[in-house]
Amino acid sequence: MSQTPFLPFALPEIGDEEIAEVVDTLRSGWVTTGPKAKKFETAFAEFLGEPQIECVAVNSATAGLHLALEALGIGPGDEVITTTHTFTATAEVVRYLGADVVLVDIDPKTLNIDPKLVEAAITSKTRCIVPVHYAGLAVDMIEILDIARRHGLRVVEDAAHALPTTLEKELIGTMGSDATVFSFYANKTMTTGEGGMLVTRNAELARRARVMRLHGINRDAFDRFTAKVPSWYYEIVAPGFKYNLTDIAAALGIHQLKRLPGFQLRREAIAQRYHEAFTDLPLVLPPRAPEGDTHSWHLYVLRLADGAGIERDRFIERMFELGIGCSVHYIPLHLQPYWRERYGLKPEQFPHSQKAYERMVSIPLYTAMTDADVERVIAAVRGSLAS
Ligand SMILES: *Cc1c(COP(=O)(O)O)cnc(C)c1O
Repeated sequence: MSQTPFLPFALPEIGDEEIAEVVDTLRSGWVTTGPKAKKFETAFAEFLGEPQIECVAVNSATAGLHLALEALGIGPGDEVITTTHTFTATAEVVRYLGADVVLVDIDPKTLNIDPKLVEAAITSKTRCIVPVHYAGLAVDMIEILDIARRHGLRVVEDAAHALPTTLEKELIGTMGSDATVFSFYANKTMTTGEGGMLVTRNAELARRARVMRLHGINRDAFDRFTAKVPSWYYEIVAPGFKYNLTDIAAALGIHQLKRLPGFQLRREAIAQRYHEAFTDLPLVLPPRAPEGDTHSWHLYVLRLADGAGIERDRFIERMFELGIGCSVHYIPLHLQPYWRERYGLKPEQFPHSQKAYERMVSIPLYTAMTDADVERVIAAVRGSLAS
């Protein structure tokens, strides 16, 4: 075992400003959804460069994905196409609504959903495509949106990894899909502890999501008949959910968002250092964004190449022995009992995801790492491959 302390796979970076804002919220007497959640939504729209875009703050990206699909009317008898190489949240929300999930394989170069396979999976029941910007590299949205347009389908982007990510210099969230959902879970590129943001240019979708975010309560319905709504009055227009973001969480988000450009530069610098350090090793390095575009570097995913001489599981054990936490993103959905059994899935249907899964390992990449931490990871990767 190494003498130096264990380096965890991920850690958030929370500063004094976040802490002061949370304390201010606690002292204000308003701790649930209120002025700070509103301010966070406005700041998020400004960050995206579109003050008019609708931002709906929610208590997780899972909630945001659920609300987006609900607002689009996805339900029993419908099919939604997504990637097998994702976290279960991407797909589970489809099942909440009684619709079915059609999983497709990835492009082995990008590890993102393969648009050709999306098109091949379309049936008369297909209603929506849910691309995932894996690790923070943009999916080819031009292609996905073109397929959707030609087949009359909706598109909801799972952008849990993709803040900030660009495609052809446009930020993910502004590409023109029906909705985009970001995550502020503890290990994402910015965090509110738990939280998410649903972004859309569709005012009707945003209105429905805001109603369903809080129990199906609608106060606008009353507005049509009288100018003055008593503060105690509300109408329930649907059996909604409890998906609102608290002001305590939003207080964190307001400052994390301000620091996001700096966070991205730090992540980019660490990724760059890893690339340089690993070029001579028997590893498949993660794909970079095209010149001029931004990769959020939520994850840095190595794949052991043919000459690596070590199995993935053993590699991760050695990294742990050297004091470095690693992870695997993801155990593909086609291997998970629920998904496998519901749809009778076999690994042979997803050869690229399967092969990538068997050889992949995510190494630490986060802003709270020091340069010395980065060098320790590099030494441990070299040591694990050599020993
Ligand atoms: C983290 C994550 C989610 C879920 O985000 P929550 O905010 O935890 O609900 C969804 N999809 C992907 C790809 C994720 O990595």
